[in-house]
Amino acid sequence: MNEIILIKNGELALKGLNRKSFEEVLAKNIQKAVAPYGPVKVWRAQSTMYVTPLDGTDIEDAVEAIAKVFGIAALSRAAEVEKNMEVILPTVCRYLHEELESAKTFKVNAKRADKKFPLKSPDICAVAGEYILARYPHLSVDVHEPDVTVTIEIRDTAAYIHKQPIRGAGGLPVGTGGRACVMISGGIDSPVASWMMAKRGLELSAVNFASPPYTSKRAEDKVKDLLRKVAQWSGEIRLHIVPFTEIQEAIRDYCPEDMLTVIMRRYMIHIAQIIARRDGALALVSGESVGQVASQTLRALECTDAAADMPILRPVIGMDKEEIVSIARKIDTFDISILPFEDCCTVFTPKHPKTKPILAKIIEAEKVLERDEINVAAMIEKAVNETAVEVIRPEL
Ligand code: ATP
Ligand code: MG
Repeated sequence: MNEIILIKNGELALKGLNRKSFEEVLAKNIQKAVAPYGPVKVWRAQSTMYVTPLDGTDIEDAVEAIAKVFGIAALSRAAEVEKNMEVILPTVCRYLHEELESAKTFKVNAKRADKKFPLKSPDICAVAGEYILARYPHLSVDVHEPDVTVTIEIRDTAAYIHKQPIRGAGGLPVGTGGRACVMISGGIDSPVASWMMAKRGLELSAVNFASPPYTSKRAEDKVKDLLRKVAQWSGEIRLHIVPFTEIQEAIRDYCPEDMLTVIMRRYMIHIAQIIARRDGALALVSGESVGQVASQTLRALECTDAAADMPILRPVIGMDKEEIVSIARKIDTFDISILPFEDCCTVFTPKHPKTKPILAKIIEAEKVLERDEINVAAMIEKAVNETAVEVIRPEL
């Protein structure tokens, strides 16, 4: 008996004409996600996608990896057997023994795609139902809400007996929506924002602003650890680490203290956009949520948005901290995020930041940085040129 994995597409089904290209991307993403565990064959037949483990690839590893691939509504393991009721029936009882033993009710769901198979679907259901009842007398049939659904599929290639489906990651296949560049900090919010945008089919690049010696190597490692978790869902992420110290010091030295955070954020956006464009990204992603901190009031967001001429996606903008934390736990970033290393945002935090900065005044205050003796444009160019790039791969 061979065991394979059956894939039920998610929102993909809605995409009409694009469906085929979406499926191709999904198939490629499945291949990539499972590759570290061994080879698999991904194939499509009669509007279903299948994954066959090859050369001893462990099916549990494959299922675990595929459960993190976006664009999949549900997946189930299935036994692949000869199209012969005398083989199918005993396999059902062996393959689903634990499920049948612990259930109270069941139903049989038969799908006959191979019209040459001698029994019609209702006949398969009747024969299999009777066979199961004879061997598990504690069971009764419930066609509406059974504890266990025994699915028997007769296809051109073989017969398939399904295990109970598990939920897929949902969303759209990564790569079907273009690329966005995430502004990643070591906090709780930006890894969650990254995951949410990957779920909508976006490939990710990332930019992190580091201010050594105010921020440590460990803060940088923390960002990489977070991205390795996110990459389990999004696939590889190109991380750009921007040396931001000189610019931050200039802002601290020459701009009004209560405006530091907003001005710093505007320069971050400015630099992130340069990097995003070079990397082929069409939008930035940030982990801001209205009202969470002083720099996340509508007035402050107005100031940061004004520094951008590409969209800034903020998927957690309307979420409570609790809701964000629950996703952070689910994607396993929470425990890393709460480690205490300094982020460049926190090193120069003013005691009394403006919660309602006025854009015109911020722009006025920034002008000092353009003076020849400071020359922020040259600093930006230098920071971009000295940006380190590293490809972050999924944690195994
Ligand atoms: P997070 O939990 O994501 O750190 P936060 O609530 O601490 O967010 P801020 O520190 O104000 O909020 O940052 C808001 C957003 O700005 C972050 O979600 C992130 O997208 C971006 N950001 C903050 N610091 C950095 C940094 N050092 N490098 C890159 N982006 C950053
Ligand atoms: Mg932060």
